[in-house]
Amino acid sequence: MAERNGGKLTRRAFLKGTAGVVGTGVAAELAVLGIDPRPVEAKALEAPLKKGKEVASVCPYCAVGCGQIVMVDPAAGKILDIQGNPDSPISEGTLCPKGAATYQLVVNPQRWTKVKYRAPGSDRWEEKPLSWAMDRIAERVKATRDAAFNESQDVPAAAGGTARKRVMNTYAVASLGGATMDNEWNYIHQKLMHSLGVVFVENQARI
Ligand code: SF4
Repeated sequence: MAERNGGKLTRRAFLKGTAGVVGTGVAAELAVLGIDPRPVEAKALEAPLKKGKEVASVCPYCAVGCGQIVMVDPAAGKILDIQGNPDSPISEGTLCPKGAATYQLVVNPQRWTKVKYRAPGSDRWEEKPLSWAMDRIAERVKATRDAAFNESQDVPAAAGGTARKRVMNTYAVASLGGATMDNEWNYIHQKLMHSLGVVFVENQARI
């Protein structure tokens, strides 16, 4: 990550400058549709920016690799905000809705830190710590995998019929990742699943 403090061209000035150049063509196209984007553009440029040390980074969510600026308070060791980086040749300051919400990946007071659990046969939910749920999931995945692990199986043979092959897998466990899993998490997660012999590994966020 490279620091951007101290540059002569501020991000706001950059946006204003490119808005004039890029905006000319877009404005002409919108004018044909009877839409004037200038009030919206002016409002966006007025939006208060959280001040801090600007650190260039890359969105953690997908392989597009959009550029981000992470605004930090080094003294407090805190992230103040995360926005698109106009200097990025890939995204030119833009972020998709998921990338634009990256700040909430780090700072989110509304995030659930407990889980609801209903024991078998029970008619009520209990609150349990997240660490308790993690241990339960790990125990059950291990037990299910061990009970349904295939060291070998019959597979179609080239010469016809079947042949016994060493496969070391299980079809009893599947993994479906979510859109909030970042690149590094996905990488480690698929390694974990494959080491368990899980072959059904999928993610709902695909580009
Ligand atoms: S998730 Fe969105 S903002 Fe992030 S890299 Fe992918 S396209 Fe860009």
